[in-house]
Amino acid sequence: MLTAIDENKKIVNLLEIDVKKLTGKYFCPFCKSELFIKNGEIKIPHFAHKSLKSCDLWTENESEQHLGLKKIFYQWFKKTDRVEIERYPPELNQRPDLLVNDKIAIEIQCSHLPIKRLKERTENYQSHGYVVIWLMGKDLWLKDQITKLQRHLVYFSENRGFYYWELDFKAQKLRLKSLIHKDLRGKIIYLQEEISFGQGRLIECLRLPFLSQKLLTIPLIVDDKLPDFIRQQLYYCSPKWLKLQEKYYQRGENC
Ligand SMILES: [Zn+2]
Repeated sequence: MLTAIDENKKIVNLLEIDVKKLTGKYFCPFCKSELFIKNGEIKIPHFAHKSLKSCDLWTENESEQHLGLKKIFYQWFKKTDRVEIERYPPELNQRPDLLVNDKIAIEIQCSHLPIKRLKERTENYQSHGYVVIWLMGKDLWLKDQITKLQRHLVYFSENRGFYYWELDFKAQKLRLKSLIHKDLRGKIIYLQEEISFGQGRLIECLRLPFLSQKLLTIPLIVDDKLPDFIRQQLYYCSPKWLKLQEKYYQRGENC
């Protein structure tokens, strides 16, 4: 975590203060237990619980990627908008990574989380009038197949169809995958656009899926081997293809 309270109950934000100037004791703003200051080689300076046992809001130690991305996004938003890090609006009873212009919650998700938890968090934001944007770290990047969790993290807009946000900490890029769909073989197809970290106004970048634009298309690759693939799927009684075959039989179109 990057924020704590000091002995005078003042919030200390490590992204705004030189860690070397910190003296005294620091506490978790939520569970009030004492925190360490960690200033090592790999991760940026951060606070960590001496024990996580009594804390409901911090359940794990944050990775280098998560801390690093929070810092980059905080600084990127700050250039043009009002941003708070790890703020805890009491009515919300949860703590977004970043809160932008009081109403946009940014969640930088770098690890797996249970779908039930994701739904609860999303619904909680929405019922309190917040917009939540989930941005996904490396372990949750979209590959050839889509997982159950990823299905719940996909958004939809008229202009970009189904879309998904990814964060590439190493390459320092924000990635938008859009027009997401499955081809006939079940492989995930999408269009990919990249924005270098720090480029332009971040809130505008995140509105990209809603901007009016020229019609987007994905070039179609002719799959010569598709008839063989379908024959094979029917031979092995793949439920998806059997169902399709049945539909065509009923219409008298199967030959
Ligand atoms: Zn705590």
